[in-house]
Amino acid sequence: MTSDLDPSTVVVHAGRPERVPNAPLGGSPVFSSTYIAGGDRGYGRFDNDAWAALEKTLGELEGGRGLTFASGMAAAAAVMDLVPVGGLVVAPQHAYSGVLGLLDQQAATGRLNLQRVDIADTDEVSAAVESADLLWIESPTNPAMEVADLPALCAAGRAAGALVVVDNTFATPLLQRPLTFGADLVMHSATKFIAGHSDVVLGAIITANDDLWTTLESKRRNLGAIPGPMEAWLGLRGLRTLALRLDRAQSNAAFLADRLLEHPRVTRVRYPGLPDDPGHARAKAQMSGFGAILAIELGGDADGAQRVCESTKLWVHATSLGGVESMLERRRRWPAEVPTIPADLIRLSVGIEHPADLWADLDQALKA
Ligand SMILES: *Cc1c(COP(=O)(O)O)cnc(C)c1O
Repeated sequence: MTSDLDPSTVVVHAGRPERVPNAPLGGSPVFSSTYIAGGDRGYGRFDNDAWAALEKTLGELEGGRGLTFASGMAAAAAVMDLVPVGGLVVAPQHAYSGVLGLLDQQAATGRLNLQRVDIADTDEVSAAVESADLLWIESPTNPAMEVADLPALCAAGRAAGALVVVDNTFATPLLQRPLTFGADLVMHSATKFIAGHSDVVLGAIITANDDLWTTLESKRRNLGAIPGPMEAWLGLRGLRTLALRLDRAQSNAAFLADRLLEHPRVTRVRYPGLPDDPGHARAKAQMSGFGAILAIELGGDADGAQRVCESTKLWVHATSLGGVESMLERRRRWPAEVPTIPADLIRLSVGIEHPADLWADLDQALKA
């Protein structure tokens, strides 16, 4: 597809079958564990049409080649596996707890060395990355909503000879394209905004480096964390409407952020779209929108925040994010969440419902 199309058009049309008479408009999931010998496909763990269609679409959106995995964590684990034994990984103090947990486990066994940094502190990260093999960036971070300076950190990583990977789950390929800033790899939990309907667990990596793509493809084969054909098909089916879903979810998030700022029960709103947010200027420079995730603090104890989460009727009290349904949770209810995340912090994943309904329900829960 020609690259002069807007991403909101690419997301609809990329990865489709060739337009020839009788061809279907979209591919179908192929349920086969193996293929007739004589071609280049081999086996169901190596190749599948439903993966290829999703990978082509994600590749066009991010500006590289895609690889889909069984989950976001499977994609993350494949990236960690690129680190030489005993190599140094520089990673954010705050990021998705599963990724941080995996790094901690691997550091505990001596598989790798780990240095945690404040990913919003460009000087600290640039100094740490000098002797690193891999720089793991997440921006905005889950759930602290910090924004990393992607162009500066990608340049620092490159200069140091470290691989730079960006977990782009919160921003999606429509709001932020890390490869264009010089990242080597982009990772997604496609479970979230990409699939978008809270009905599938899926991951992806995108890279513009063919050697890295080949290495990661072979890791996927041999580590075996492949997606099911149906999951990949659902992921692409969901991705087709990402531009529309994001438009609505983002405008809802901006509306709610403004309202929450004024709410007497709320002491802090973390959303890069707010002019006073510490990440605002960076987000404005490197993202084409501020996304649909925000976090609030209530200034009280964990119990009060927990009660708010349990008092909504419309908002779904559940973990995960990026679905059409608005969801909320107190992140520290998970023992694996980093202790520097405030106990009263609630992460809001804003969906595509009517903003007035979302506000009314949140407001009554905050007063409960
Ligand atoms: C959910 C999430 C992951 C993990 O992805 P799974 O699909 O749940 O394995 C990684 N990074 C971020 C930012 C996430 O939100």
